[in-house]
Amino acid sequence: MSALTVITTVAELRRLVDERRKRGEMIGLVPTMGALHEGHLSLVRAAYSECACVVVSVYVNPTQFAPHEDFQRYPRNLDHDLQLLKSVGDVLVFAPTDAEMYPAGFQTTVEVTKLSLGWEGELRPTHFRGVATVVTKLFTAADADFAYFGQKDYQQLRVVEQMARDLNLRTVVRACPTTREPDGLAMSSRNRYLTSEERQQGLSLSRALAIAAEMVKRGESNCAELEAAMRDVLASAGVKSDYAAVADRETLQPLTQLTRPAVALIAAKVGKTRLIDNMLLDAKQRVI
Ligand code: AMP
Repeated sequence: MSALTVITTVAELRRLVDERRKRGEMIGLVPTMGALHEGHLSLVRAAYSECACVVVSVYVNPTQFAPHEDFQRYPRNLDHDLQLLKSVGDVLVFAPTDAEMYPAGFQTTVEVTKLSLGWEGELRPTHFRGVATVVTKLFTAADADFAYFGQKDYQQLRVVEQMARDLNLRTVVRACPTTREPDGLAMSSRNRYLTSEERQQGLSLSRALAIAAEMVKRGESNCAELEAAMRDVLASAGVKSDYAAVADRETLQPLTQLTRPAVALIAAKVGKTRLIDNMLLDAKQRVI
């Protein structure tokens, strides 16, 4: 088991990170909202594979939740998170208060215009502004060389990559693969909201994506066909999809033909819980 340092202020984080940098260490940052699971830990391990100093932020960021969303009931258990992190390494845990992140008079936002518009952005119009703002603050507070994000939240990953590039931030964004349960369900802090019946229904997201990938392997390149197949799988599990679509992997614009590297994106409501998942699709993977 390793020693953990829990930091609650930006000033203290800066001081500790500066010390580590002076020792010649690379700084890796893993931003999270806590309620950690194996998916988060895979990002921490990726950080350790290239950085001697790893900062994990645990902060449920209020500005990325709309008033009707689950900010209040979002699972919070810092002690449990610390236990999990201890098993990976001597992480610097940054767990600030709201007053530390958004002190009285705070008035700056960061907005990635085009990539934030569709998909999650259409249903959650202020979400990515909250994400981009808090992530900019975390990148600069930790002065990180690298920051690790999960492909599980594909649109978020693209928004953050674009933001770091557009603002010339020193932090390089690393994309890490989605960690799944053995049956295919993408790990998520929100999975704990699911009843056992809903969990079974939730499997339809990864099943729909696997079927789309299989169709591509067999030569299907018409995105409307892929989308219809995904929607069928979701509907037959009794799951109401917000979207099940194929988009350009870079721009996230909808595609009609699989002529470029693509991503299949799904968001669906299972009971009261909203789940998202995605899979990269590539016509070149086709099996003839
Ligand atoms: P969250 O705590 O949900 O805000 O997620 C923090 C980071 O963990 C984000 O970069 C997520 O994309 C990533 N993440 C969440 N679930 C997974 C997963 N199943 N596999 C890989 N990364 C994940």
